[in-house]
Amino acid sequence: MLLAATAAAAQDLRLAGEAVQGGLIRGQVPPGTEVRLDGRALRVAADGLFVFGFGRDAKPDHSLALRLPDGSHQERSLTVAKRSYRVQRIDGLAPRMVTPDAAALVRIRRENGWIAAARQRDTPEPHFAAGFAWPLRGPITGVFGSQRILNGEPRRPHYGVDIAGPRGKPVLSPAAGLVALVEADLYYTGGTIIIDHGHGLTSVLSHLSAVLVKLGEIVEQGQLVGRVGASGRATGPHLDWRVNWFAERLDPARLVPPMPKPEGG
Ligand SMILES: [Zn+2]
Repeated sequence: MLLAATAAAAQDLRLAGEAVQGGLIRGQVPPGTEVRLDGRALRVAADGLFVFGFGRDAKPDHSLALRLPDGSHQERSLTVAKRSYRVQRIDGLAPRMVTPDAAALVRIRRENGWIAAARQRDTPEPHFAAGFAWPLRGPITGVFGSQRILNGEPRRPHYGVDIAGPRGKPVLSPAAGLVALVEADLYYTGGTIIIDHGHGLTSVLSHLSAVLVKLGEIVEQGQLVGRVGASGRATGPHLDWRVNWFAERLDPARLVPPMPKPEGG
């Protein structure tokens, strides 16, 4: 009996992806199944596909609860692996001189509200189903989760992957989706595009020198959406690519194969 029950459970729930901090999991259940993660209802597509992710500092213990179309319940516990992030300590710095002034703070608060609203979207189309691809090929100059501690004061972790590239190089949509935000010049992120991949998954593409899509447009994976730049607060031309599952920050580099070697190199 126990074996039979286990086999049935395995058939009813299939998970793909890594249960790790910053990781994304794709699940498949029989159509009509309700799925909850730690009590929170997840959106399940008509064919039974669903998705969820774990943030940078996700706790280890989680549970998925299913309510199958026949009314029966199943539960699966998940253990999320802890990662260690690159931490850089710099001491003996002169006190910080650059802090945004009052007007800039008002602007930053307003812009953060726009970004937060785009990340709360929960659209039914599973645009993410075909997976992700690098939006730009080039040297990786910043990784997910890294953090600097300046004069003993921890700064905000870095949630994107930074890819260096010459100004003007095409930036491609990492996955299909709906363009949920288009801004030419945000305070921190400059030229910024947010693409809604469905079910709470969004990509943020930042520091663009040109944005080539319109709000509400549907884009395909690999479609030209913008150009590399150094707009906003950036020290040089690069793309900052972030992926969110609602408020959870995911590691974009774990959604794609390793960065290909440069052509001819
Ligand atoms: Zn960055």
